[in-house]
Amino acid sequence: MDLLTTAGSYINEVFTIFFPHKCPGCGRAGSELVCPDCERKIREISEPYCRRCGIPLPPGINAAADCGWCREQEIYFDAARSALNYQSPVREIVMRFKFHRSYGMGRYLRGRLARRATTGVDIFDIFGDVDFIVPVPLHPRRRIWRGFNQSQYLAEEAARIWDKRIENCLLRIKNTRPQSLLSPKERRKNVSGAFRLKGRADVKDKTVLLIDDVMTTGATVNECSRVLKEGGAARVVVLTLARGGAS
Ligand SMILES: [Zn+2]
Ligand SMILES: [Zn+2]
Repeated sequence: MDLLTTAGSYINEVFTIFFPHKCPGCGRAGSELVCPDCERKIREISEPYCRRCGIPLPPGINAAADCGWCREQEIYFDAARSALNYQSPVREIVMRFKFHRSYGMGRYLRGRLARRATTGVDIFDIFGDVDFIVPVPLHPRRRIWRGFNQSQYLAEEAARIWDKRIENCLLRIKNTRPQSLLSPKERRKNVSGAFRLKGRADVKDKTVLLIDDVMTTGATVNECSRVLKEGGAARVVVLTLARGGAS
């Protein structure tokens, strides 16, 4: 029995040397961070998409007009774009990055962002002439609890891609509830008044690239954009790693 147990743990150890990663999409152990089957399921956002908020639209739709969501809201950002569709396995990869502090997944997502920036120059061409990059901040208490700010982490990649500096000029003054648990209406209320500009922040007449990890209803980036515009920003363009539906 002992011999069997020893043999079992030995086999297990050898197995983890060759297959050290558990795919966040399907749970299978393998040598890649994300298994090839799940990687094939990842959808990069391309035409057609709403020119204003960047949401992917059904094929055949005229993307020159704003989508239904954009027509119904008061929108403070000038345009938003995202790299990937927020569906499985992107959702699970983002979760593992954010809630399990997996830097392997973080690096993987940064890589996907960089890849989209080279293959998707069409979709990202609005980011070339910004003055600086502003990550959506976490509340200081959540920042300590999580250990890092995922938007800051992605902003560092964007700073490298477009050779721009990061200005942490926004403060989160309300420790809001996680947006993912709320309805669209509750999300707007939840983030209303949650941000303010830092005392010495100078955004006047600037073009700002605002960065967040995921955009669904757009309530968070819209509220940040409102604050930046009130502070005098000339233009706010938004980049998120992933984009989900507004429902
Ligand atoms: Zn998989
Ligand atoms: Zn739209």
